[in-house]
Amino acid sequence: MKEHTMLDSIRSLLGVPARAIPLSVCGIGRSYLLDRTNIPLTGTAILFAIPYVMTEDVTDSRRNLSLYAVPRDYHLYIRELETTLLPSLRGFYPHNRFALFSDHSPIREVDAAARAGLGTVGMHGLLITPEYGSFVFIGEILTDMSYENVTGETAPVFPSEPPTCRACGLCQKACPMDCPTEDKSRCLSALSQKKGELTSCEREALLRGGLAWGCDACQLACPYNLRVLRDGIDTPISFFRRSRMPRIDTDMLNAMTEEDFSARAYSWRGRAVITRNLQLLEDADNERRTP
Ligand code: SF4
Ligand code: SF4
Repeated sequence: MKEHTMLDSIRSLLGVPARAIPLSVCGIGRSYLLDRTNIPLTGTAILFAIPYVMTEDVTDSRRNLSLYAVPRDYHLYIRELETTLLPSLRGFYPHNRFALFSDHSPIREVDAAARAGLGTVGMHGLLITPEYGSFVFIGEILTDMSYENVTGETAPVFPSEPPTCRACGLCQKACPMDCPTEDKSRCLSALSQKKGELTSCEREALLRGGLAWGCDACQLACPYNLRVLRDGIDTPISFFRRSRMPRIDTDMLNAMTEEDFSARAYSWRGRAVITRNLQLLEDADNERRTP
């Protein structure tokens, strides 16, 4: 019988899909972060998907936030794992080093996750997992343990390029900004996070998107995600199932304590940016209602 491995432990502790890949074959984007961990390139990255969607939120007509901004900010979930998962691993494997990253990571996450076998890369640039589509964040544990010791298997030959989606182009067709595949500078999600005044074109774009934060159009057009939604596959992680706010308005925002506000994805640009977006949408709504 196959021995219970570290990868098995991580899968059962997290309850989500996880795959390993040697650090030596990962693209290292921020080497200074790796240096700080003292984990050598002979170590391993264990990448895991963090599903965040409750499918009922997709069709909630009140929703004016991108789906990823409905639950609390996933960086808080990562902080929780730092105080739960990492101590458990250090208890099981006291002679090894572990570091946890997500978003701000030494490795190129999407590329490494897809090459490790966690999913494919979509034309929209996101990881698409078989289980949860692209409604996932990516997290990774880096360790000085070898791939063989993490998985109990000999390292296979990993693809030099990540596997890609079926390239149906539906995401690009659905994009209200006509974003070319590689150029995300016009992306509505980035625009909704821009500080300062918006130009009239940018204001129109935001109104066209209809959300006060982010944009889901490319993800909602993707056949892989439509299957997830059709089958009602919700995140199993209680952090993302609780404290969801599909809608916010200026009154709700003003009533939020700093602690509540800082738990939301839209807080990272400060109150002024989300307030500006909400006022734009609310003014347009009031104009429409005025006879
Ligand atoms: S998030 Fe919206 S604007 Fe950005 S690429 Fe996707 S569809 Fe286009
Ligand atoms: S909509 Fe089509 S092209 Fe776009 S990510 Fe999904 S499968 Fe790929």
